[in-house]
Amino acid sequence: MEHADLELPEPDTKDWTWTVRHRCPECGVAVGELTLRQAAELTDLAAQQWTELLSHGDEAALRARPRPRVWSPTEYAAHVRDVGRVFLTRLDLMLAEDTPSFQDWDQDAAAVAGGYSTLDPRQLAPAVGVSLGAFAARLREVPLGEEQRRGIRSNGSEFTILTLAQYFLHDVVHHLHDVGRPLKV
Ligand SMILES: [Zn+2]
Repeated sequence: MEHADLELPEPDTKDWTWTVRHRCPECGVAVGELTLRQAAELTDLAAQQWTELLSHGDEAALRARPRPRVWSPTEYAAHVRDVGRVFLTRLDLMLAEDTPSFQDWDQDAAAVAGGYSTLDPRQLAPAVGVSLGAFAARLREVPLGEEQRRGIRSNGSEFTILTLAQYFLHDVVHHLHDVGRPLKV
């Protein structure tokens, strides 16, 4: 299927850091009270549900954009896979350095460069599982007392390891909501 004629989605310029303080009115998830362990468990659960959807969902539906400027479930899944990789790098940096600054990551450029719209959902399934699973596993390895280590995003937002984990979890769960498969706990 040829996707080259599709328009790009609207760039996501919203700052989503408020989601670690308030329940998200769109997906209904409140992450601000979660411990690191709980965030890891829920990340694993989200990983299972993404993998299940990509492995067994209707393939045509997984590849279809609901509207021209809204990502297909496969494109969202590729985004989630890459968010997992980017956030694992950030987490490792926070563990290795004192208050590091994160490199910029342009998710819309990543979608184009990664050919998200051409990916095969069945092949993507294990990659999403590995990416989210690796992040969850690293959260479990964070030494006691280290979860308040800090890092700074290029827009100045400050994260701790705990709020990074909460923010990440909201992102992967929110995108399950985006594709019509809200997280089942
Ligand atoms: Zn949300």
